[in-house]
Amino acid sequence: MTTLFISDLHLEADRPEIGDQFADFLENEAKSAEALYILGDFFEAWVGDDDPDEYYATIKQSLRDLVDHGVPVYFMHGNRDFMIGDKFAAETGVTILPDPCPAEFYGKQVLLSHGDALCTDDVEYQQSRVMTRNPEWQAMILAKPLEERLAIAAHARAQSAARSATLGEEIMDVNTDEVRRSISEHGVDILLHGHTHRPAIHDVEVDERVARRIVLGDWYEQGSVLRWDADGPVLSKLPR
Ligand code: MN
Repeated sequence: MTTLFISDLHLEADRPEIGDQFADFLENEAKSAEALYILGDFFEAWVGDDDPDEYYATIKQSLRDLVDHGVPVYFMHGNRDFMIGDKFAAETGVTILPDPCPAEFYGKQVLLSHGDALCTDDVEYQQSRVMTRNPEWQAMILAKPLEERLAIAAHARAQSAARSATLGEEIMDVNTDEVRRSISEHGVDILLHGHTHRPAIHDVEVDERVARRIVLGDWYEQGSVLRWDADGPVLSKLPR
């Protein structure tokens, strides 16, 4: 049996082709998987589990169907959907994982992460990450009316896009010292993450051994999946 890992679909009603491909993916291969891991930025934005958005309701139902079919689904927050909470988990049946999350797959020690916490060169982003992951800040936001939250999210996305356009490529990527530190601290063979939208498998020398860093791709133009079974992990594109 194969365990599947995906991230960075950035699902939203304005880009239905991504959701359509995800529906195909669920129908064609996820149903026979050992488990499905979604490592963040599954949604383009999430302003609270009380959002009655119909498109999101369809996606939630598709996750519920997969769980009811008997495939466990694990979900990690990304920097776009970190407000997903207990209600979402109860509705869909997914299990929310902490970031980072040590785990074992087919005899390998693995550290799962969305990946944004590894981008330590972007100091300003890391500061805002600390603020937005604070439960008190989240409670303050969730207390606002839905319309206001949607406006805040739209503003944050526009700001983020403007910042990304001015920052250098390297600043937006993971910091290699932070990668080594994480692998060493958790004593893992493999660090698996998304976020950077740079799908690849890297060798990482750490503690006089060679570990690996596997990066999942985004789903903007095509899908990206890591399929892992007893023969090892394989990173693949999913043509649209
Ligand atoms: Mn991200």
